[in-house]
Amino acid sequence: MTDIFSTDKRSDIMSKIRSKNTKPEIKLRKALFARGFRYRTNVKQLPGTPDIVLRKYRTVIFVNGCFWHHHANCKIATTPKTNTEFWQNKIKRNRQRDLENYWKLGEMGWEIIVVWECELNHAHAEESVADKIAERLHKKLQPQPYSLPEESEIGIAAEGNTEYGK
Ligand SMILES: [Zn+2]
Repeated sequence: MTDIFSTDKRSDIMSKIRSKNTKPEIKLRKALFARGFRYRTNVKQLPGTPDIVLRKYRTVIFVNGCFWHHHANCKIATTPKTNTEFWQNKIKRNRQRDLENYWKLGEMGWEIIVVWECELNHAHAEESVADKIAERLHKKLQPQPYSLPEESEIGIAAEGNTEYGK
């Protein structure tokens, strides 16, 4: 497959792919909301700025673009034929950073769910993905000593790490 785009055009396309609030992510959010889950989005105070944070379940969800985060054996994750080395290095760094962030979150007691863009590609895919996530979350939930509203103004950064069992 040849790369039909110029470098400038490619950069433009890639920046759009990278942007937050991508459509598949919104579909998944809505599906989770419809199942009664409440969450915060793009939480900058946590490593990697997780797309969806379900504090009650100590779980974060990343909706990863297959190209940017290098989804192994995925059709969307092909390397562009122009500036191959540049893109390879860039994606390699992204991947490295992802793994570091997952590790940090794990250390802080968060469970990490990664949903790939291609998993949400077909019609109503978000419903089955949301079902799977719901099942996992329900298994995880244990009685909490107290609860805070998920959408409150209380920033996660204001809390000590100790709360997450560090
Ligand atoms: Zn993929």
